Amino acid sequence: MSLKLTRIPQAGYEQVVTCEDPETGLRAIIAVHDTTLGPALGGMRMWPYASWDDALFDVLRLARGMTYKSAVAETGLGGGKSVILGNPKTQKSEKLFLAMGRFIDSLGGAYITAEDVGSSVDDMVIVRRATRHVTGLPHAAGSSGDPSPWTALGCFRGIVACLEEAFGSAEVRGRTVAIQGCGHVGKYLAQHLAQAGATLLLADVAPERVQDVARATGGTIVDPSEILFQRCDVLAPCALGAVFNDETLPRLKTRIVAGAANNVLLREEHGARLKAMDVLYAPDYIINAGGIINVSIEIEAGGYNEARSRAKVENIYNALKRVFAISKSHNISSNEASNRLAEEILARGRAKRLKPSAAER
Ligand code: NAD
Repeated sequence: MSLKLTRIPQAGYEQVVTCEDPETGLRAIIAVHDTTLGPALGGMRMWPYASWDDALFDVLRLARGMTYKSAVAETGLGGGKSVILGNPKTQKSEKLFLAMGRFIDSLGGAYITAEDVGSSVDDMVIVRRATRHVTGLPHAAGSSGDPSPWTALGCFRGIVACLEEAFGSAEVRGRTVAIQGCGHVGKYLAQHLAQAGATLLLADVAPERVQDVARATGGTIVDPSEILFQRCDVLAPCALGAVFNDETLPRLKTRIVAGAANNVLLREEHGARLKAMDVLYAPDYIINAGGIINVSIEIEAGGYNEARSRAKVENIYNALKRVFAISKSHNISSNEASNRLAEEILARGRAKRLKPSAAER
């Protein structure tokens, strides 16, 4: 029954703990990056990592990313992440996720989990039996449900902010938007854009998905290998990471890059390259924060409230406007500007925490 927990001191991180449980085969790491603004929320990734070192590298990078994302989205949450070393196709079991739940519980609420790559809502239901520090449960359980429509709504509002910034008009009607990936987020984003009068170019490696979305929105299907290079006003990557790199950048014919996919820049310097090309880039973790904003409402006192979620997700428009203002005034790329904004918000949070309250004075 007992989990073997080992703390790994890690500069810049509040807690990094590994867990081994020979009885269930669980091998996992939780990284709590920063809880200045609230408990650290981040998904539980299950992946066949080649080594503990690979898993550690990934969990540290992802946990830090969650801190920045939540800070700018004003979710009242900090950043963390967990990884399970294992193959999600062959190594899932009830006892594995119960052990993972006990591991999460041992941190006393400093880390709150959710589904992620390799884990599902069903897995979270099992984890919930061992800890209450879990979100993203099915709607019926009083939870916030599928995050994708919220991520798509945030992207849509983000695209509106980008249009205003790039063209001086927030009008969507008449604009051409190319969407790479018609999955959970892409299909809802396409609906918002079509309703607002945009012309859509659509691609997906799964033909039935792109056909469904094209039928529902009147969009034109484009070959997946060509979607990034379409002449358009907005290119919305909603599939994979690292799509903007040395090979793709010279071939872009868009004025704006704004979509849901995570880590779309291969390296940070590709953000500066986009700026030099006069392509306005909406930093991924700002524009795709709708899902985490929705989950954060679930954790608030009083429980989940859809109207409140909508208002906060729509605020992604303002977050992007702030980022673009910093980018312009300091002549830096928008991805650098968003990191600066996140660090400023965290610094303010730390200063507030250090300030004695009236009761303590
Ligand atoms: P998804 O798997 O449902 O959809 C991705 C789609 O992209 C699939 O239909 C897939 O077939 C397609 N695809 C894959 N490779 C492609 C290619 N080369 N060209 C064209 N299409 C391709 O995933 P999702 O939930 O819609 O998420 C999309 C992206 O947004 C991911 O990067 C994800 O990490 C990110 N994201 C999603 C959410 C959310 O709420 N779902 C939140 C934040 C970020």
